[in-house]
Amino acid sequence: MDCIFCKIVAGEIPCSKVYEDEKILAFKDINPQAPVHVIFIPKQHILTCADDINDSNKEILGDIFEAISKVAKELGLSDGYRIINNCGKHGAQSVKHIHFHLLGGAQLPEDMGVRE
Ligand code: 5GP
Ligand code: ZN
Repeated sequence: MDCIFCKIVAGEIPCSKVYEDEKILAFKDINPQAPVHVIFIPKQHILTCADDINDSNKEILGDIFEAISKVAKELGLSDGYRIINNCGKHGAQSVKHIHFHLLGGAQLPEDMGVRE
């Protein structure tokens, strides 16, 4: 499958790994939007975005959020952070392998609305 994140999981594209277990991989975003910007993905390409979540695959989401919480603590994000899942065209999703952005390390803007 022609998927950048599957290639990262397969080791075909290098990444700066932050966390890994049997189901999840987390790595630094190549184009960071905050001092800490880490991407969390399920290693298996089972979901494109939040639209695909159902009873048979939703367990991985809890696993990912647990991993995010663990990594946020390890990285010292005690003042908080933001978790983002971009879904589809209006969500400006560019990689069609479900992923969650962990952003932190500085005060993030309150505004998450429509760009003028
Ligand atoms: P999206 O816009 O789909 O929510 O997020 C995709 C993210 O993947 C972007 O923030 C982009 O910078 C990141 N990204 C795209 N290609 C690569 C890559 O080859 N390596 C890494 N580490 N991040 C990537
Ligand atoms: Zn993939």
